[in-house]
Amino acid sequence: MKIICVGRNYSSHIDELKNEKPQQPVLFIKPDTALIQRNQPFFIPHFTSEIHYEVELLVRIHRLGKHIQPKFAHKYYNDIALGIDFTARAMQTALKEKGLPWEKAKAFDGSALVSDWLPKTRFEDLNHLNFSLEKNGTPVQSGNTSQMLWDIDHLIAHVSEFFTLKIGDIIFTGTPAGVGAVSPGDTLTGFIEGQQQFSVKIK
Ligand code: ZN
Repeated sequence: MKIICVGRNYSSHIDELKNEKPQQPVLFIKPDTALIQRNQPFFIPHFTSEIHYEVELLVRIHRLGKHIQPKFAHKYYNDIALGIDFTARAMQTALKEKGLPWEKAKAFDGSALVSDWLPKTRFEDLNHLNFSLEKNGTPVQSGNTSQMLWDIDHLIAHVSEFFTLKIGDIIFTGTPAGVGAVSPGDTLTGFIEGQQQFSVKIK
């Protein structure tokens, strides 16, 4: 499986990193080795001390697809989850400035946290879903999927123009404002509509 991540999908986060609003979704990929195993902590990697959290709504593909039209995209996923796109921010900024790929800063081992999956039918409207993140019990990020520049169906359509979507692939749909650094000993807890989806310890 592969993990397709969408960058710059919330205006508030684009503004906080002083990025330009993209004309098309910004995509990058994490390999399956980026997944944090169930109930494992996040280990700050040896190559950096600056790691940022980015809480994101996730979609899991359950049907093979390519050139999917937005109006049919809903047929390609049944489950959603919440996750963190862990980012070596200083390293990413340096790579961006040089016009180099971000993979080392974004796709390293353990850079993708994925909560348990929930059937999408549990929610009335996936395009108006609240999600949030707390660090050590203090709210740090909150978003609503209505704030996305491209909604889930348009993301699936766009992604599938470039990458064949296979069963089990995961899409990280982008982060709202409020990204920040973690330190050893921190705990990050994520919520969808106020219900806890994960709690991960930073080591
Ligand atoms: Zn992200």
